[in-house]
Amino acid sequence: MPEHLSETLHFTKNWQQQLAEAFNNIEDLCHYLHLSLNDLPVSVAAAKSFPLRVPLSFAASMQKGNPDDPLLRQVLPVKDELLAYPGFSNDPVGDLPSATQTGVLHKYHGRVLLINTGSCAINCRYCFRRNFPYSDLQLGKQDEIAGIRYIQENPDITEVILSGGDPLLLSDARLAKLFVQLSAIKHLKRIRIHSRLPIVLPARITDDLINTLTQCGKQVVIVVHCNHANEINPRVITAFNRLRNKGITLFNQSVLLKGVNDNVAVLCELSEQLFSHGIIPYYLHLLDKATGTGHFEVSEAVATDLIKQVQATLPGYLVPKLVKELPGALSKQAIL
Ligand SMILES: *Cc1c(COP(=O)(O)O)cnc(C)c1O
Ligand code: SF4
Repeated sequence: MPEHLSETLHFTKNWQQQLAEAFNNIEDLCHYLHLSLNDLPVSVAAAKSFPLRVPLSFAASMQKGNPDDPLLRQVLPVKDELLAYPGFSNDPVGDLPSATQTGVLHKYHGRVLLINTGSCAINCRYCFRRNFPYSDLQLGKQDEIAGIRYIQENPDITEVILSGGDPLLLSDARLAKLFVQLSAIKHLKRIRIHSRLPIVLPARITDDLINTLTQCGKQVVIVVHCNHANEINPRVITAFNRLRNKGITLFNQSVLLKGVNDNVAVLCELSEQLFSHGIIPYYLHLLDKATGTGHFEVSEAVATDLIKQVQATLPGYLVPKLVKELPGALSKQAIL
């Protein structure tokens, strides 16, 4: 079957099927991209410790035949991951392992992070999560009850943030139940979801999901995670529009990544593209220094210089805040 026909068929399938058919080995992805393994610095060892995983919807936005494609770079297991970089460790932020035992992370005033799943639809090579063996973590009923009770008992908490992993990988039934429980908590004003699915698996944004999100009586915010304008394809735009049309506020956060978006023109185009579809740039994160991600690092000095140039080019509301995560701090740390 010609490739474009099988692709069209794939995108008519439901999100669970699309997820099940995601690329999970380097050879298939290379073949699809018309690349030879010899063109690429791939590492089988790196893929063993953190497997390749990428839905076709995301891979379809990669440029065929381009070994340096900025989307491919985000997902391809490469030899550089095996190098030791000074200052990089298995636990750079220091709090995720503990949060994944209780499901609750209350670090900043008024906001609490609920971690319901450790799974993701895509494996991003730069992610700090790569070093923790909790990829299939599903918090049990008891943990969820404890998490809800914690929020009920703390009237200072006005916003719940669903994070992970990717909270939108939870089933509709599971999410619906969680939203009903959260909607009953009076002091809660907002429910925020941090998810990469609108970008990497936009088929997840179904009518049922949107109904669940919008019927809870709280303001709903979704922070998507897009690093490069090429990730915004027609399927992603449809997902954005459907969410926005139902009154969900959309922000974007990116990670500043060498060889992906460490470039003024690329950062400006990302902000422009996002905003043309109603998404406000929120954060540009410096990389968390997790083992295996050193080749993505952009120094703070270079980052500062880049964001100053973006600032000199775009209106203020299109300039994301450049931030980093510091253990023990009361908020993300602004760099500029
Ligand atoms: C990033 C983060 C938040 C959200 O911070 P905002 O600045 O409100 O986006 C909340 N809790 C934890 C633990 C976080 O890491
Ligand atoms: S948590 Fe986010 S950055 Fe990390 S692998 Fe999942 S989707 Fe990618």
